[in-house]
Amino acid sequence: MALVNMKDMLEHAYRNRYAVGAFDLVGLEFLEGIIQAAEDCRAPVILSLAESHFDHYDFELLMPAVEAAAERAAVPVAIHFDHGATLDSATRAINQGCNGVMVDASMLSLPENISHTKAVVDMAHACGVPVEGELGYVAGVEGENAEHHPGELVFTSVEEARVYVQRTGADFLAVSIGTVHGRLKGRPRLDFQRLARINDALGVPLVIHGGTGLADEQFGRLIANGVAKINYYTALSDAAAEAVRGKMDDDGGYTTLLHGVRDAVAQEAARCMRLWGSAGRAAEVLMQCRPWQPVEHLIIYNVQGLDEAGVEYVMAEGRRVLSTIPGVRRVFTGEAMKDRATYRYSWLVRFTSREVIDSYREHPAHKAFANHLFRPHAGERISIDFQETQPTLQAATNVEAESLRA
Ligand SMILES: [Zn+2]
Repeated sequence: MALVNMKDMLEHAYRNRYAVGAFDLVGLEFLEGIIQAAEDCRAPVILSLAESHFDHYDFELLMPAVEAAAERAAVPVAIHFDHGATLDSATRAINQGCNGVMVDASMLSLPENISHTKAVVDMAHACGVPVEGELGYVAGVEGENAEHHPGELVFTSVEEARVYVQRTGADFLAVSIGTVHGRLKGRPRLDFQRLARINDALGVPLVIHGGTGLADEQFGRLIANGVAKINYYTALSDAAAEAVRGKMDDDGGYTTLLHGVRDAVAQEAARCMRLWGSAGRAAEVLMQCRPWQPVEHLIIYNVQGLDEAGVEYVMAEGRRVLSTIPGVRRVFTGEAMKDRATYRYSWLVRFTSREVIDSYREHPAHKAFANHLFRPHAGERISIDFQETQPTLQAATNVEAESLRA
């Protein structure tokens, strides 16, 4: 289990003056390439899923693979929802397994941006999930047609940034200091003085979008001035496309064309990890950052005064209503397989993190369901919250030794 708390991860980077790559992935080849690079470099990494890419893949289908890759990885990983447009999409992303979310409301006026961001921060923090806000406008969108940059670049104002972070409670801030999404002709001129002033004023990890096409030396100065997360996609996309084009003359089908994509993505991502200083940091991050630790809320119970159909109705209603609550990953209802079990029924509700224990209990949807449907019929019951066991390396070694002796 190498999923870690993203706030801890980025604060480690911020304190130690390096930047973690947040690489947008658009399929399994990208996912495997990015993880391969992180493992080769021993680097912490952020797997990023941008809402603007959801036309290219089914988010709900890809997420289990992303989580599996993160859990299997030998390096610390966070899963980030990039450029979320609405409160609902951020909630859905968290419930699907993202442990960081970005609010993209920078096109709104400052007061509107603040109120929208604040709503997402309140929801996400109640799930234990940190939030990246954005102020100013980094022109263009994540994705194809990357040469086109609709809209005018708007630089982040230092004073507005201070107000924005104070009022919203955003954990990280994406700033606009001259980068644009997608490809550029020539090098952009970056406003490092502005960045330095924002960093002095805020003291939170800063984020750069539109990292493609910057010079090595520019990255160095960004990181020296508080940038701890760099969003990166276009160059990976170009490397992947180049790999496919290189196979065009080969005979063979789809898999032949895709054959080099994973390695091309890995190579470019690894170059970034070395350049941005995240290479070689994995062990420290694993030691110093909280693991991302799911919690399961278990209830075993008997019912009074309900027939089978009534019980079924309550369970179906519970699954429907409770699964919409922020921070609820999964609602499982079960029935004992033995006729004479001490407890006949069960609920198993999986939370993203321990913070959800309280916010779930207080959520209006949970209160209404518990008070009107569940409690009036639930008889004797046991209710416990369990946190996933985190074996330390030492404990894991001991258990192995024990079981070998047995
Ligand atoms: Zn972006």
